[in-house]
Amino acid sequence: MEEYLNQLNSAQLEPTIQIEGPMIVIAGAGSGKTRVLTYRIAYMMSKDIDPFNILALTFTNKAAREMKARIASIVGASEAKNLWMGTFHSVFAKILRIEADRLGYPSNFTIYDTQDSDRLIASIIKEMNLDKDIYKYKQIRSRISSYKNSLITVRAYFQNPELIEADAMARRPRMGDIYKEYVERCFKAGAMDFDDLLLKTNELLTRFPDVLAKYQNRFKYILVDEYQDTNHSQYLIVRALSDKFQNICVVGDDAQSIYAFRGANINNILNFQKDYDDVKVFRLEQNYRSTKNIVNAANSIIDKNQTKLEKIVWTANEEGAKIKVNRSLTDGDEGRYVASTIFETKMQEHVPNSDFAVLYRTNAQSRAIEDALRKRDIKYRIYGGLSFYQRKEIKDVLSYLRLVINPADEEALKRVINFPPRGIGQTTVDRLVVAANGLGKPIFDVIKDLDKIEIKINSGTRAKLDNFATLIESYQVMNQTADVFELAEHVTRSSGLIREFNKDGTPEGVARMENIEELLNGMKDFVEGQKELADATGSLAEFLEDVALATDLDNDKGDSDHVALMTIHLAKGLEFPYVFIVGLEEDLFPSAMSMNTRSELEEERRLFYVALTRAEKQAYLTYALSRYRWGKLIDAEPSRFIEEIDEQYLDIVTPIEERRYNPMLDASIFGDVEPNKKGSPDKIRYKPAKQFKPKKGASRKEPEKFQVTTPKNLKPVSKTSNGASNLFDSKLVVGNIVKHIRFGKGEVLKIEGKGADTKAEIKFETGGIKKLLLRFAKLEVI
Ligand code: ATP
Ligand code: MG
Repeated sequence: MEEYLNQLNSAQLEPTIQIEGPMIVIAGAGSGKTRVLTYRIAYMMSKDIDPFNILALTFTNKAAREMKARIASIVGASEAKNLWMGTFHSVFAKILRIEADRLGYPSNFTIYDTQDSDRLIASIIKEMNLDKDIYKYKQIRSRISSYKNSLITVRAYFQNPELIEADAMARRPRMGDIYKEYVERCFKAGAMDFDDLLLKTNELLTRFPDVLAKYQNRFKYILVDEYQDTNHSQYLIVRALSDKFQNICVVGDDAQSIYAFRGANINNILNFQKDYDDVKVFRLEQNYRSTKNIVNAANSIIDKNQTKLEKIVWTANEEGAKIKVNRSLTDGDEGRYVASTIFETKMQEHVPNSDFAVLYRTNAQSRAIEDALRKRDIKYRIYGGLSFYQRKEIKDVLSYLRLVINPADEEALKRVINFPPRGIGQTTVDRLVVAANGLGKPIFDVIKDLDKIEIKINSGTRAKLDNFATLIESYQVMNQTADVFELAEHVTRSSGLIREFNKDGTPEGVARMENIEELLNGMKDFVEGQKELADATGSLAEFLEDVALATDLDNDKGDSDHVALMTIHLAKGLEFPYVFIVGLEEDLFPSAMSMNTRSELEEERRLFYVALTRAEKQAYLTYALSRYRWGKLIDAEPSRFIEEIDEQYLDIVTPIEERRYNPMLDASIFGDVEPNKKGSPDKIRYKPAKQFKPKKGASRKEPEKFQVTTPKNLKPVSKTSNGASNLFDSKLVVGNIVKHIRFGKGEVLKIEGKGADTKAEIKFETGGIKKLLLRFAKLEVI
């Protein structure tokens, strides 16, 4: 342990070895908060604290897994196994399973994902004959979600005239009825949605003092990462559980609070000191992640926020390169800039794809980036879109499996009762739903009791329903002996799913089959993996729970080398050597929806701070002058966030003044793009071509670097590398002394390959022999 404690600075060491009592570590990005949590747990275990008594709550399951792996490497795997570590949702789902009967739920309850919730809400709206343009199911879902996260139950809702009034004002007077129906339907289906996992935990802990006492005694030590983004519901759970021993350690950064829109409450961190007695407050100031340039730039930006705790963040890391700011004509050009920069950096620096991340404000922005990366054959992965487990074909398979565990699961049943088609029409399903609602029973029970119920269904259909029920029951029998993989393999074949997907020979059909195969592979892994864990049963129920709470960040096995594409929200806590923040334009980032109040704008600025502080070595800020949004090409202005950064940290390849008057750019922009009519008072403004008066000698000088950001290069970006130039083929010979923009002087040792693939091995004075692709290396023979 000693050896590990030496890997901490003295400010980090203090909170790490402070075990008892309430404490908070407030510190800026990259200062080692997560490291402190990790080492603290290892230290506690080295002091003979039973891992069984430790609960650590993280922001993603991936973070939990990484932390656990790190701890295992310090204290040993068998010790670490007993730690309870995970997201709020995954930890409390486990507790709810154990205690489900207290709340009238089966322990095998289903977890509805947002897709399931959406479908259920949409069908309720339809059943109630409401106008779906006024009652938009996604909006209804997010309202219900915010009620639940504020602990407003259906009963509380109907007792609160203000809420009823507010919904009536929003032209949704039936909101409460939908909420009530939704909650009842979930309950009847033995299902909890994501918010229920927190809401029901709160209910459990308040209604049953013995249960509360049990978990208070169990979790004597509680640790929470990213505390600034906890919502009210999570806050109350932590408070309740830690109330007895008050051994609570939270770490966070108010400057990185970015989930207010989902109910996160920054006051949880600001008020922590009031919530407990004798809170010890620790601050960390040294950033270990990023270069001086990045740290200073990030500081200069967060400085603009009024609501913040004063913090110092500095780093002893090297100065590093300045942050590159690049402007493109269109979002397509922006994508090409990103792709070519990645391509060239990889060549120059010999780094893997996984060193790069492209961060954006909205998921829709990924398309242009993807297109460009594909053209360059650069492998990438999008995180946070549709997760693997939400794809249609995967959900179809999973729905069968969910019915095996919980036949009451209404959404699963509706999904597969007639898929693959087995002649059970929508009318029949509707009648079943009505009957089930009338009887207060799950649909599956109604199907099984058809003979005893008055329902208009003909004998042919009855037989088909009967077959369906028998099919599911046969799976239930098989589940008693087979493992997850065997069962799923059998299900995909015997249900007709495979046949159905195989039927259409389209590329989509083939992709679906591949996904199912991937799912089965994952199950095999799961089964194998579980065999090694003493506390896991490897059961289907367990698999489904993992899957229900998996985000695609968790899915990342790190087995392939790819550029990461994700929203900034998802990137919290992560780090990458090279980070692109794209789409830095007014109305996009900051988002148009967040410009109404200062606090909204400040949240956007925190988001930008989070984005920038993910970068270790080099950050790139990019924006386009026009962009396709909502199917239209609209003109854009650079984000205020670029201007807010102290200019000394920026490498604006084209100075703002010059760019404004650049003839090439302006002529081409305003040739086909509407001039900016908004008349915004922003400093950076692009004048329409007709006002353009070129300054003498304003045509820009070519930057010396290989950057493809100059106007001259803007257009042929894609050609710089595709159009293989033979420029150096003949010129360069072994023995030449050359100059490289980054590595300096060197001697050519070897030349190999032909044409576009010509490489030179060069020994540089600055140290090291590097192999460079000549078409990118831009060498100068001296
Ligand atoms: P964020 O606010 O982004 O979540 P954080 O405060 O949790 O950041 P960490 O992720 O724990 O910071 O640490 C940032 C990086 O610095 C990590 O790569 C970590 O391993 C490294 N690091 C932290 N402390 C030290 C140290 N004392 N010596 C060397 N490296 C360190
Ligand atoms: Mg962290």
